Amino acid sequence: MPLVVGDLVGVGGLWVKNMVERCFNEEEARIILSMSISKFGCPDQIMWHYTRNGMYSVKSGYKVAQDMNSNGELGRKGVGQSSGDHVKDLIWGAIWQLKVPPKLSHFIGKGCKNILAVRSNLQRRGIQLEIVCPHCGDDMETQVHLFFKCSFARVFWFGSPLQLDVVSVEGEDFLACWNWLLKKYGVAEEGDRLMRWVVCGLWRIWKCRNSMVFEQTLVEPNVALELLQKHWGEIERCEQSQVRPARSSRLGEGEEVPVRWVKPPFRTIKLNCDGAWHKETRRGGFGWVAQDFAGIFKGAGGMGNVCCDSDSDGGSGGGASSFGGMCGEGLWVCSN
Ligand SMILES: [Zn+2]
Repeated sequence: MPLVVGDLVGVGGLWVKNMVERCFNEEEARIILSMSISKFGCPDQIMWHYTRNGMYSVKSGYKVAQDMNSNGELGRKGVGQSSGDHVKDLIWGAIWQLKVPPKLSHFIGKGCKNILAVRSNLQRRGIQLEIVCPHCGDDMETQVHLFFKCSFARVFWFGSPLQLDVVSVEGEDFLACWNWLLKKYGVAEEGDRLMRWVVCGLWRIWKCRNSMVFEQTLVEPNVALELLQKHWGEIERCEQSQVRPARSSRLGEGEEVPVRWVKPPFRTIKLNCDGAWHKETRRGGFGWVAQDFAGIFKGAGGMGNVCCDSDSDGGSGGGASSFGGMCGEGLWVCSN
């Protein structure tokens, strides 16, 4: 099964027709095969289909889920298997798009499938054990009880940066509660960030529960909140350290700045160009890549080994100004 577009392109830069026809329905295959393949190529990347810039956000994921729910495609009432599978793919896709370590995404995924090893689930699998909550001893340890109903969880969430009153959380199972949290936090301005707090909070409760069960160590809610803050700081630092250094626009300059492609205005093609020039040989070259306002690749090209009198001819500034002379309204030229 092909994973990226490049897997559908064969020798000579042509579509592998039978593979395209095998992987897509007739209409999709016809559209794909009618598209010309870039001569110069560009890196494959995974795009989120439901936003213009191809980037996933919790808000957009939630909106898709809501649309599918209103269309009856959520599959919770035993409707079509394929629709249900599609929604599951969306849910897992959304979970995996959260900027948290993979083990946390995996943990949330298991929660949504109701397969975390809480005592009620272990009993369901035929393991004989006491199923009372190890924290409060007041109720059966289900996922919903552990994360939202237990007195420990109530204190923890209210003391967290979210200041969540868990009495307000609605849902008969973890997945429903997760969707409730998505509705409350995911659609907010800082939805991705707030959902990361939710994930870290759920993880911390799980860790505290495991300390109690496996090490007989009670972690008080205030200590759990300190650990939550510490964990959050680690995730933030890790994310910041993953910001790639920018490639210098001129040879020899290496200032590190965050790399972020800025989309052009609606109905505008953005042309990013860059170039290099060698002082001794007085030769240089430049390249360009065109993307539309949604970040969709439109074309690429360039020239190399060109004789230039100065770096302003071969460098990115020269490239941009040259293109600038060719452009009218509807085309942006940038060197970053
Ligand atoms: Zn409890």
